[in-house]
Amino acid sequence: MKCRRMLTTSLRSPTKLHLLRLLRRPLQVVATDGVRAMMESALTARDRVGVQDFVLLENYTSEAAFIENLRKRFKENLIYTYIGSVLVSVNPYKDLEIYTKNHMERYRGVNFYEVSPHIYAVADNAYRSMRTERKDQCILISGESGAGKTEASKKILQYYAVTCPASDQVQTVKDRLLQSNPVLEAFGNAKTLRNDNSSRFGKYMDIQFDFKGAPVGGHIINYLLEKSRVVHQNHGERNFHIFYQLIEGGEEDLLRRLGLERNPQQYQYLVKVRPPLFVCVCVRVCVFSAVLQGNCPKVSSINDRSDWKVVRKALSVIGFNEDDVEELLNIIASVLHLGNVQYGGEDGTACITSDTQIKYLARLMSPLNLEQASSARDALSKAVYGRTFTWLVNKINTSLAYKDDSQKSYSVIGLLDIYGFEVFQNNSFEQFCINYCNEKLQQLFIELTLKSEQDEYEAEGITWEPVQYFNNKIICDLVEEKFKGIISILDEECLRPGDASDFTFLEKLESTVGGHPHFVTHKLADPKTRKVMGREEFRLLHYAGEVNYNVNGFLDKNNDLLFRNLKEVMCMSENKILTQCFDREELSDKKRPDTAATQFKSSLAKLMEILMSKEPSYVRCIKPNDSKQSGRFDDVLIRHQVKYLGLMENLRVRRAGFAYRRRYEVFLQRYKSLCPETWPNWQGRLAEGVSTLVKHMGYKPEEYKMGRSKIFIRFPKTLFATEDALET
Ligand code: ATP
Ligand code: MG
Repeated sequence: MKCRRMLTTSLRSPTKLHLLRLLRRPLQVVATDGVRAMMESALTARDRVGVQDFVLLENYTSEAAFIENLRKRFKENLIYTYIGSVLVSVNPYKDLEIYTKNHMERYRGVNFYEVSPHIYAVADNAYRSMRTERKDQCILISGESGAGKTEASKKILQYYAVTCPASDQVQTVKDRLLQSNPVLEAFGNAKTLRNDNSSRFGKYMDIQFDFKGAPVGGHIINYLLEKSRVVHQNHGERNFHIFYQLIEGGEEDLLRRLGLERNPQQYQYLVKVRPPLFVCVCVRVCVFSAVLQGNCPKVSSINDRSDWKVVRKALSVIGFNEDDVEELLNIIASVLHLGNVQYGGEDGTACITSDTQIKYLARLMSPLNLEQASSARDALSKAVYGRTFTWLVNKINTSLAYKDDSQKSYSVIGLLDIYGFEVFQNNSFEQFCINYCNEKLQQLFIELTLKSEQDEYEAEGITWEPVQYFNNKIICDLVEEKFKGIISILDEECLRPGDASDFTFLEKLESTVGGHPHFVTHKLADPKTRKVMGREEFRLLHYAGEVNYNVNGFLDKNNDLLFRNLKEVMCMSENKILTQCFDREELSDKKRPDTAATQFKSSLAKLMEILMSKEPSYVRCIKPNDSKQSGRFDDVLIRHQVKYLGLMENLRVRRAGFAYRRRYEVFLQRYKSLCPETWPNWQGRLAEGVSTLVKHMGYKPEEYKMGRSKIFIRFPKTLFATEDALET
């Protein structure tokens, strides 16, 4: 098939005219050995490395063909492939020599399609669009845990740091932008079973550029930090890196001041098995069962001691003075001490049995008395850590803020590194929020992609052909609609006094959204589905697939309450960071704070607004295997991700209209050698030149359309043939 195409197209190449005349003869008859070898090697090359843009796949609706193309490229260390302008990236799990300064130079100012796919091409394209079209840009990076999102966002930032113009002042901003990463990773990343450096928060970062294109500032927004990790991690996982870095790398006298030992085994929140605990809190009795912590203080891929040095340096580059650092570390140490507060007592009445910890806590944080400390310790630890993290982001933002008042206007490139669609054996409130976030991003993607396609056709004067696609707005509404959506129902149960529980929440869902086509519970399911659903679960039919959510813990996690007396104590703290985190106004505020889901919903709505106002580029990251190994391509795992990332849909939308489009001058420049009338130079109007060329190449009228400044080619095979003609 390919052989035939090559032959047919080679016939139109002016450089091989002697072959062109032999159009319909079999290869072995016409080709000399040399020519055949050349053709075969070209053929083998494409067969070996696949196509660099999925829109060129002949069988573009076939998932198998899609995955085969990924596999071919992955085998050749070609980790990047396009779907139109979307970059698909497969984590190589090894250092490839493709991020050098030379590579950066190669992609600088070069047309997207003229070089092989690369993250630098995406970065450069966004930068040039921002500069030439004066339109703010954003780069949306998605993919599951370990797929390479954070690495991709760092590569983009490095690209700008190296290639954008600099001055002394700009250099400071570049350094701060780069150094914000190790700090946020220390406090917001952790080792999980999926990724040794997993981001446990979502991040949107604006890079601000002045009129010369130099980075002059930045701003970060963080989303939904996984606070529960502070008090508990699954076996084989760790707490946030900073705890281990401090213990391993902290100087002797620092640890002495903080009352810490250089041994993670000493800290309940890091490794130890905790005995059953009974904690009496004025309003209710909570029973903690034995908890097996992560028990994984050392990780071969992580050097906590050297990372500590990197973080300390980064903090000072960002502008933290010694006092700031000391106060920050006091809080980190306090959380560790808090975790070691032990309770004893009989008949379920708690008393604290570990005085030493209280002594340190009082000294480091506040005059905490025994009674106050005996209330929800873990809730306090989570609140303290979570709010400190937000404080840290704000502090970094102050340091990144654009300071030059004389030039108030700047252009922006935003980078979004946010959790991908998650489906585990047991899915809870966190997965519900994360998958809701992905529904919103998918909606944005569809709207923006289709909108930009439509805009382009209109601008070029080409009739718009509507594209069929699944609009997931129906699922977004199911989750977020006022009064009727799942979040509203959850909030209602959280506010309802009396017998509200996770199960009454489930019942209420059944009676309110039970008839929705994307919602099922055990009770409502058909017999087949019922077999794979628990009684405590509800199932959402997401755009990317079905997910069962277990309602256990939904109410508590959504309430995210901290007892008032603990807030009061925190407000009295002498630690300056804590007083900013726990502000007195919160105590006088009669209104109940928004629930976790509602806060998340509002922050996502704001994020959508930010992204809608910008021109998007997409990077879709794929994890090749679950064992973090290089060279292993796990079909099943990859197929799942292709589905969850909506890549087939993406390709279908892209292919629904015209697969390829090129500005006339670019098209003519590339292919002018294929037609005697356009070679070596076409003197007339560009559109006429292109028209002459494609007619000479035998394009049929249904294969292309001529716009105002671009040619639109409907099928990839047409362009393929033209490309092949160039090769021969
Ligand atoms: P999470 O959602 O858990 O934060 P992630 O998508 O951000 O995951 P990364 O932390 O970026 O994943 O990548 C995981 C690991 O994979 C990295 O620590 C690195 O070892 C490897 N990796 C990712 N991208 C690349 C790359 N382009 N080249 C080499 N190694 C990579
Ligand atoms: Mg990450």
